[in-house]
Amino acid sequence: MMDLKELYQEIILDHGKNPRNLRKTENYNKDAKGHNPLCGDKVHVYLKLDEDKKVHDISFEGQGCAISMASASIMTDLVKGKEEHEVKEIVKDFLEMIKEKDQLNNKILEDNEKTKLMCLSGVKKYPMRVKCATLSWHTLTSAIDNTQQEINSENID
Ligand code: ZN
Repeated sequence: MMDLKELYQEIILDHGKNPRNLRKTENYNKDAKGHNPLCGDKVHVYLKLDEDKKVHDISFEGQGCAISMASASIMTDLVKGKEEHEVKEIVKDFLEMIKEKDQLNNKILEDNEKTKLMCLSGVKKYPMRVKCATLSWHTLTSAIDNTQQEINSENID
């Protein structure tokens, strides 16, 4: 039987090799770029929010290590269709989990969706890898907030 660690590894490999939503959203209305110079990961997140601030589409372009690609892939998969305030709550919960918490506390995601995010919890022990995993999430926040600033993960804890 496959243990949890193997399951997590499998999901990361799958998303790393076949990233979901790796494309540019047509008629996007928000976007942001992010760069993790420590590893060389680059990401550009595109969002199309509809009139009631729901994520109609989200996609990304970029290149980087398996962790950064898998994280962006899983992120785009999970926030599509969510409302802007829900996206912010998911991002906050994920960032707290990846740094210190043992679990996700948001009530928005289903259990199987949370499992996909928990796959990335293995990087917790490795601060360099945490930056790979969080790059696309900080970039998503920048896009939502329309900061027009490129995220540089060297400047973020
Ligand atoms: Zn990386």
